[in-house]
This record gives sequence, C-alpha cells and structure tokens, in this order.
Amino acid sequence: GVGGLALLGLAPSAPSCPHGPALLFVKTSQGKEEGRRFYACSACRDRRDCNFFQWEDEKVSETRLATREEYNRNHQPPFTHRQNVERYKNFVLLPLSKRRFCQECQQLLLPAEWEKHSDHQFLCDISTAQLKSPSQLLYPLENKKTNAQYLFADRSCRFLLDLIIGLGFRRVLSVGTPRLHEMIQSKASQEDDFRVRSLLLDIDFRYSQFYTEDEFCHYNMFNHYFFGGEAACETCRKFLYQDNGERVIMVTDPPFGGLVEALASSFKKLMAMWKETEREGHNNQEMPMFWIFPYFFESRILEFFPSFRMMDYQVDYDNHALYKHGKTGRRQSPVRIFTNVTPSMIVLPVEEGYRFCAICQRYVSSGNQHCEICNSCTSKDGRQWKHCVLCKKCVKPSWFHCNNCNCCALQNHTCEKTDASCFVCGKSGHKRSTCPSLSHT
Ligand code: SAH
Ligand code: ZN
Ligand code: ZN
Ligand code: ZN
Ligand code: ZN
Repeated sequence: GVGGLALLGLAPSAPSCPHGPALLFVKTSQGKEEGRRFYACSACRDRRDCNFFQWEDEKVSETRLATREEYNRNHQPPFTHRQNVERYKNFVLLPLSKRRFCQECQQLLLPAEWEKHSDHQFLCDISTAQLKSPSQLLYPLENKKTNAQYLFADRSCRFLLDLIIGLGFRRVLSVGTPRLHEMIQSKASQEDDFRVRSLLLDIDFRYSQFYTEDEFCHYNMFNHYFFGGEAACETCRKFLYQDNGERVIMVTDPPFGGLVEALASSFKKLMAMWKETEREGHNNQEMPMFWIFPYFFESRILEFFPSFRMMDYQVDYDNHALYKHGKTGRRQSPVRIFTNVTPSMIVLPVEEGYRFCAICQRYVSSGNQHCEICNSCTSKDGRQWKHCVLCKKCVKPSWFHCNNCNCCALQNHTCEKTDASCFVCGKSGHKRSTCPSLSHT
C-alpha cells in the first residue's frame, strides 16, 4: 500500500548520462493521483554507479548542460573500440613472454605500458586460448544491483548452442550472452565446417579488447542505445539482414533486476530492425528469440510477448551458487528459456530427466506431471504441483488452501487481505501496467 517507483519508458527528449538516454520514472505515493516524474540512468540501478537524476519539469541551465556533456565525455572508456582492435593486433604479434594482462585495469598491456601498471597485479604469458575465452580471463562483474554477470555453466552453454544448431540457425544475435558468443567464435575459428556466426551486444566494454567491430557492439539493452553510434547500429542491422534475414535467432540473458518493460521495448526494436529485411512471404513472422529469465517473470514477459512460451529447461550458471543444476541435491535453478520458437521443436535432454508430453506438445521436467483438470503440465519450478479445486488451478506442493484468504498459500502465512490495488495510483480494479494515470511511451 505504500507508494513506489514506476517506469514510464524512453521519452523522445530524454537527457543523457554516460549510458545513453535516461529513462523516465514516476515516484508515487499512495492515494495521490499523479506522482512526480524524473529521469534516471537506464543501466545502473545503484546510484553509486551512475547518479544521474533530473526532474522532468526541472529547468537545466546552459552551464549545467555543458558540464554534463563534458562529464559524459569524460566517462567514456579510455580507448575507443577501434583503438582496442589495433591494440589487439599488436598484442598477438608479441611473443608469449611479453603478453600481459592487467587484472586491476582488466586490460591487455602493450610493453610500453608496463611501467604505468607496475604496481598492479597482472597475468603473464597470455595464450591464444586465453584470448579466445575472454569470459574466463575477465573478472565477472559483481555489482549486485547494476551488473552482476552470471556466466553459463558449460553444460547449459553447450545445450543452447546444440539446440540452436539443431533448429538450423546460422546466425546468433547474442545480447548480453558473452559466453555463448565466445563458444561460437572459438568453434568458428577452429572447425572448418562450423557455419554459425555470432554478434555480441553487451554493455561490458572490456569485450571490445577481444572482438572486432563486426563481432561486438557496445550496447545498452535498457534503452536500445548503441554507444558506437550509427555505424554500430548499422553493423547490427547488416548482421540481421544477411541471408535475407533467414536463419537468425536472438539470444538474450539480461540482468534479473526487473525493468522488464524497458528490456521488452528494446527487444521489440531489435525485432523491428530484423523485420525491415525484404523477406518474401514472411511478413507476419517474428524474429526467433530465446529470452533467458527466471520463471517468476513469466506473466510479465508474456504481457509484452504473447507469442512466447516458457520452457522447462533449467539454465545453470558457473558463478551463481543458487542457480545450479538440481540433480545432485543442490538447489534448482529458477532460470528458464522463453521463446517464440514452436515448443515441440525445443528438444530437452532426456538423460537429464526431461520427457515429452504428447498432450502439451512440449518437453517438460521429470517432476512436471500432466494435470487432467488443467489439461496441462502445470509445474513452473520443476517440482510436482497439486491441483486445488477451489482455486481451479495447480499450486505449489507446499501450499494449502486458506479459507480466510480464499486462495492457496504457505501454511504459516499471515492472513491479510493482500492489497489488490494498483502499485502506481493505489486504486483497485487494475494493475500497474494498465494504470490510466500513466501515459505509456
Ligand atoms: N549467462 C550469460 C551472461 C549473462 S549476465 C553468459 O554466460 O554469456 C548479463 C549480461 O548482460 C552480462 O554480460 C552483462 O555485461 C550484460 N549487461 C548488463 N547490463 C546490460 C545493459 N544495460 N545492456 C547490455 N548488456 C548488459
Ligand atoms: Zn502435459
Ligand atoms: Zn491442475
Ligand atoms: Zn486453493
Ligand atoms: Zn492505477
């Protein structure tokens, strides 16, 4: 019942921070019809990473605008992508003994720069294999709020790539999936008959040290911003247009911190970019996509992409203690694949316990029983769910029907009328996403 924050989206005249155009939010307090609108950084939810803030109706002086522009310029990376590509070319010419990587600056060093980094920790003898696996060389970013990088476990990454190949795709637009990109790139350079290509879009500029401008674009997926400007946007467009736009799939694994509507709006722009290709008779098709995200965001994702379905496959991560494979008694990963590819085509590994449900026409996890009453395999989390006749749906095994609340809940829940009112305006009868007090941009 307290007020909150809601995202209004990308406004045409939005001011910019170092991460591109800021997003418009509204601060609300309960009962108030209209909250005050403000701009904040699209990429960083932790204000310590980017403290950009401006009320929508605030007058910004010329001096402050000039200072801001200078600040934005100064907060760009020390080298451009082009410079990093040149540096890489020089780096690979060095003998092994002169190939150093500064761990503090997360940067490949050329001999002339050693002096400047002399009191930093560095790695020596950087091999070609290491250069081909930057996601192993770079520290995963660990800022919980802004950019926590959770890298695919090898098992999951292989599964995704095999699935993509099995479905006949030839190009992968890797949006925030550096490890998948890396697996594709390294196979492409090692195996002559490997035909898949990948373009990485990611906000982590460290990757520009390892990939050319045709392989990596510095990109912000919360505001569809290409840091490299029109040229980088054109690289992406060209990539999508190859082969008449055929056999391309987008795979994305965004940070889980919410802002689903911002992500959805960017992904729709990437889909629209693909749609502009001159493909005959494919006009009503959508660009195929895998959106990797936790299962509890299902309704939010389907709100924006009604054609998507959630797959039962549990995506595992290397550096996330909680999100690992369930089979050995560890906790099960809540992360799933949402896709507009026909579910029956997404073949899940039988050796990991997945089975095909002929009625649902999709692969489901071993614990997911087909419910006769719902007529579907209803489990979301991999455990067997049970049907509640009063709720007229299947619920988690740990839930019981509460006559007070008139719904199923944990046995020891506190019976409180859950506040069914809108998050934005506090009125009942609608949810935040359809709140009439928000003009959707
Ligand atoms: N599982 C993936 C990594 C997912 S972690 C893999 O192994 O390949 C989320 C990724 O999204 C990271 O690579 C991170 O750098 C990127 N990211 C985070 N915020 C972003 C933003 N605003 N725009 C684009 N990419 C972003
Ligand atoms: Zn079923
Ligand atoms: Zn049921
Ligand atoms: Zn119930
Ligand atoms: Zn409302």
